[in-house]
Amino acid sequence: MKNFNPANNIQDLQYFGEFGGVNPSISDSSTYTFLSAKTMFDTFEGNMEGCYLYSRHSSPSNLYLDQALAAMEGTEAANVSASGMGAITPTILQLCGTGDHIVSSRTIYGGTYAFLKNFTPRLGIKTTFVDITKLDVVQAAITPDTKVLYCETVSNPLLEVADIKELSSLAKKHNLTLVVDNTFSPLSVSPAKLGADIVIHSLTKYINGSSDTVGGVTCASQDFINSLKNVNNGASMLLGPTMDSLRSASIMKNLRTLHIRMKQHSNNAFFLAERFEKDGIKTVYPGLESHPSHTLYKNMINPEYGFGGMMTIDVGTLEKANELMELMQERNLGYLAVSLGFYKTLFSAPGTSTSSEIPLEEQKEMGLTDGLIRFSIGLDNDIERTYQSMKQCMIELNIL
Ligand code: PLP
Repeated sequence: MKNFNPANNIQDLQYFGEFGGVNPSISDSSTYTFLSAKTMFDTFEGNMEGCYLYSRHSSPSNLYLDQALAAMEGTEAANVSASGMGAITPTILQLCGTGDHIVSSRTIYGGTYAFLKNFTPRLGIKTTFVDITKLDVVQAAITPDTKVLYCETVSNPLLEVADIKELSSLAKKHNLTLVVDNTFSPLSVSPAKLGADIVIHSLTKYINGSSDTVGGVTCASQDFINSLKNVNNGASMLLGPTMDSLRSASIMKNLRTLHIRMKQHSNNAFFLAERFEKDGIKTVYPGLESHPSHTLYKNMINPEYGFGGMMTIDVGTLEKANELMELMQERNLGYLAVSLGFYKTLFSAPGTSTSSEIPLEEQKEMGLTDGLIRFSIGLDNDIERTYQSMKQCMIELNIL
């Protein structure tokens, strides 16, 4: 772990284009020729290294991005997909079938929550949602049918931190697969190095970073990735959430600057979180000492990438939250939009947007209050100037 540096691993990948280009050539084909029928047969049987059969299975461009993301997470292999949900859903369906049980954090992305709560029961898969920060509660929820332990490194939107090392020990003890969604904390946290079996990202967010596409990835052992892509029973191969080669080539180029962007996102978010907390605003940011998991997170991160770009503030009511977000947008401080990891700041009220799939009572129980605003802090060059303008908005709306 000490010598593991995800940004160095990405930097060290050298791919030449077909004509000596500095970027790898884009594979602009859905199907591939074979010089012999025998090779085609062997490729379908999964016995031919370096041969491509059909782009729903894999393509040269997707394989470059697979390799880069596996290098970033320190796993043997990876499989990119057309969206984050296109990585999460086949992964879970590959691991679980009728009669199986999942223990999941209750503070996860609303789409994942809806999939586990409303969709997978149709296939006979049950999920128990728990407070992932309470290991005794997690342990108590495990049954003889449990196959998967599921969480996000830093949860959406409450920024709770999962103790991946401890969860991994628990998973090993009960023979479970620990699946960690690391979307909020690329480079900052390396879950596989802490014991996670499978690491998932929505590439839509920080990794791509320009809010111009959706994408996802599953990083895991070569065996698991092969099973996802198996032509007879692989959930990715058969459900077909394939990323297009043009997109994987563009995401690959953005990945090359992720380390610089993460540092700036983290520095800016840390600056604003400290200031807002000092101003008396209820602020949640894992870099603040007031965060319940601050020490845990500090020991989990690759420190140079910081505590990440996500923070929340609570301004009391939904009305105030909406007024503030509209005013901040008017003053060009960011966009009132869901999603995260963009170069400009994005803000939204999770209770009425990204977590609206979670019933109101459950939102209350988990501390998702009406006045909560989730910020994905952008790459602003002069964050003091941003702070002053945001503070002015708060003063005008009697929040400060
Ligand atoms: N995981 C997390 C933590 C997310 O925030 C999201 C999307 O908001 C997803 C997964 C789903 O990703 P996508 O929208 O790319 O399907």
